[in-house]
Amino acid sequence: MLRSLYRPRAILPNHKYHVLRTLATSSSRRETLPSSPIRVLRSVNSARVWRRPLFDTHRTVGLVPTMGALHSGHLSLIRAAARDNHHVVVSIYVNPAQFGPREDLDSYPATWDSDAHILARLDRELAGDGANLGRVSAVFAPTTTDMYPSGFPGQDIDSKGSFVSITPVGEVLEGASRPTFFRGVATVCMKLFNIIQPTRVYFGQKDVQQTVVIRRMVEDFMMPTEVVVGPTERDPTDGLALSSRNVYLGPRRRSVANVLFRALTAAETAYTESRHLDRESIVGAAEGVLDAVLQEQSGLAPERRSLFEVDYVSLADPDTMQEVDAVDPERGAVLSGAIKMLPVEKAAEGEDLGYSGGPAVRLIDNIILKPRTAEE
Ligand code: AMP
Repeated sequence: MLRSLYRPRAILPNHKYHVLRTLATSSSRRETLPSSPIRVLRSVNSARVWRRPLFDTHRTVGLVPTMGALHSGHLSLIRAAARDNHHVVVSIYVNPAQFGPREDLDSYPATWDSDAHILARLDRELAGDGANLGRVSAVFAPTTTDMYPSGFPGQDIDSKGSFVSITPVGEVLEGASRPTFFRGVATVCMKLFNIIQPTRVYFGQKDVQQTVVIRRMVEDFMMPTEVVVGPTERDPTDGLALSSRNVYLGPRRRSVANVLFRALTAAETAYTESRHLDRESIVGAAEGVLDAVLQEQSGLAPERRSLFEVDYVSLADPDTMQEVDAVDPERGAVLSGAIKMLPVEKAAEGEDLGYSGGPAVRLIDNIILKPRTAEE
């Protein structure tokens, strides 16, 4: 019932003609990714035409929303979607609404050719594994004109337009540092979910607050889709959470960038091994690591050191992301943090400073503190 409410049902006769015409033209020149059967859907209409027959044949569709620059974190979500669904759609869209006016939209890595290659290779791997229900059936790569049919409303906090705001969960932590971020994320996800009408949507725990915002949006707007959260993929050598933004770091800052993960791990140990529940002991353990590394780096010469600023270390309720004074052992908590790796002060001769000249890079990470009852 919900599903039928969610689908556009009333097609007026002139629209019907338009849809049929589009079907005829799209079937004669269907774009696919090179060396693969993966369809490339570049418009809202082509996505709807692709999706519609799958309702009639009761095929399930998993959607993995991304901004491209694909890495193993994205691929783990696509693998999970292929295990559970007959079809997987990967959306690649760098959504301007989730970037602040002074953020890195212009330099955000655009890597269509390598993303296409990565997806084609992954799809061959998925096809060869009988445990999968589906494979990558389509990439949805719309334009901003398509995604914002009334015109892009702008990135300012007081921009006018059709927005989805999920508060108060979207206002704290990442939302406090980036006031339009979750409004942009929720708005674009609402659009993507309405276009693709996925059975399931896949998000990474890496962006834990985003998963809480999306779950809340799906619940509060009665959206007929299941939200699935996949674990954070990390660099196996030092635990740094994979992120498309890590390319900005360059080797010097990269070697210090796992400090946040180390700090959160120390805090997790305070909870799991030292059995602390209070905020001071848990958050204090993380802050101790951050302070020690910052002091160590500050003692080095400008051409060798990597400095960073701590934005926050948070211990929050898993459903609301509001700060807690102590972990409720029955609910657990979310331990999260954000740091800003500052640009290097003085480059050494010939030093690789990272993509786009090595600007400041904001890194986030988190660890879920499981309820004690589940752990024991
Ligand atoms: P992005 O392209 O950065 O918007 O990310 C698209 C999706 O991939 C989001 O659901 C992210 O949470 C997820 N993701 C990004 N990095 C990782 C990671 N290291 N591990 C797991 N999922 C990730």
